[in-house]
Amino acid sequence: MIDHHPSSSADPKTVENDLRTLTRFIEVYCGDCHEAWKRRVVTLKSHDVAALMGREISLCPDCTKLLCHALVKRSNCPMDPKPQCKHCPNHCYHPTYRKKIQEVMMHSGRKLVMRGRFDYLLHLLF
Ligand SMILES: [Zn+2]
Repeated sequence: MIDHHPSSSADPKTVENDLRTLTRFIEVYCGDCHEAWKRRVVTLKSHDVAALMGREISLCPDCTKLLCHALVKRSNCPMDPKPQCKHCPNHCYHPTYRKKIQEVMMHSGRKLVMRGRFDYLLHLLF
């Protein structure tokens, strides 16, 4: 399912965990910050999000685009081990999405930590 960089020895489970975390973060952010009527069930060409999460995810069109960008970038990350994105010499995100995903990380990170959801705490992202 995950199109992994062929020369990378990174554990596919780690990549999958990151993809799941990204999806969860964007879902929390969209749920808090965007209007419910805009949200639709997400289907991406690049990733089977429902299979990844074990359930369907609904996001607004903007967040769906962001999710698509984020999942593709993470899946194609050639750095192994992956550094924190802010320390990475190779900023692969489009500047618009980069700003957006940082906003998502701040918002959802704070919220999930306050709920004690440390399982979502990131070692690799931002
Ligand atoms: Zn949204």
